[in-house]
Amino acid sequence: MIVRPRRLVLLGHPVGHSLSPIFQNAALRHAGIPLVYEALDIAVPDLAHAVGLLAEDAAAGNVTVPHKESMVAICAERTPLAERAGAVNTFWTDESGGIIGDNTDVGGFDALVRETLGALPKGRIALLGAGGAAAGVLAAVEQWSGCEVTLYNRTTTRLARLAARFPVVTRTVDDPAAAVRDAQVVVNATTAGLEDDLLPVPIEALPFDCAVIDLVYRVGGTPWVRAAARCGHRAGDGLPMLIEQGALAFERWFGIPAPRDVMWDSVTMAPDA
Ligand code: NAP
Repeated sequence: MIVRPRRLVLLGHPVGHSLSPIFQNAALRHAGIPLVYEALDIAVPDLAHAVGLLAEDAAAGNVTVPHKESMVAICAERTPLAERAGAVNTFWTDESGGIIGDNTDVGGFDALVRETLGALPKGRIALLGAGGAAAGVLAAVEQWSGCEVTLYNRTTTRLARLAARFPVVTRTVDDPAAAVRDAQVVVNATTAGLEDDLLPVPIEALPFDCAVIDLVYRVGGTPWVRAAARCGHRAGDGLPMLIEQGALAFERWFGIPAPRDVMWDSVTMAPDA
């Protein structure tokens, strides 16, 4: 059984860029829950120790770059979706003090795609990246019908390892421009654009009619999404995914509907947004 969280945290490195504290705290205030959601910058070697201390506080929370895959082994138990994705982005403490790991990025990605495209796609999807977020994308895509994935990643060992886990990946390539060549949808699940203005793949390499989905988010759109939209592509960044994965996490922690409108308004109307 879930214990009512006594502390709510985001674990990442870095965490300064994250909008999660803004919208989770707006949701907590709206729901009258007397907790503050705190972002904790935890270096990679310190993750297991930090999670052990948080379990003693009956904490719940989220996990972001670069800890989602490492968190899988740290959790005492995982939901089937977290097992399938091999990545944990949401956790809570059960009554015996064990940490339970879940993955709400899968549902968040599904919502982002429906919002950007108006429906689920069919055909070839090019997925750039092979980290925890990419695994969540594949766990979503394998539930859709009529899709196959071309997977690209900079580090080829990680590329091969992720492709081997998901039969929906029918091609792997070592060049992002080759990955997108015949794609109906191109998804960026790398960190390109997170703290810089790098594009995961040049706009000129995109097929003229493909849609562009960036898991990286920025209020007003990421550089890649803005450039793709200027060239006529349907394009959306990861903000709707961020809100939906956070809303699903809120519902796991508290068992009540998340105030999605409040969450959305808090980030899009924030003074520095
Ligand atoms: P991760 O596990 O650390 O994986 C990072 C990925 O980015 C790997 O594929 C890595 O390739 C690649 N990468 C890093 N630097 C690169 C570069 N300079 N050029 C090309 N590829 C590079 O991170 P993650 O958890 O999968 O997250 C990936 C991205 O998705 C992050 O930007 C994160 O903010 C975003 N995300 C957004 C949401 C949302 O709600 N919108 C949810 C989840 C994730 P190598 O294997 O070669 O290092």
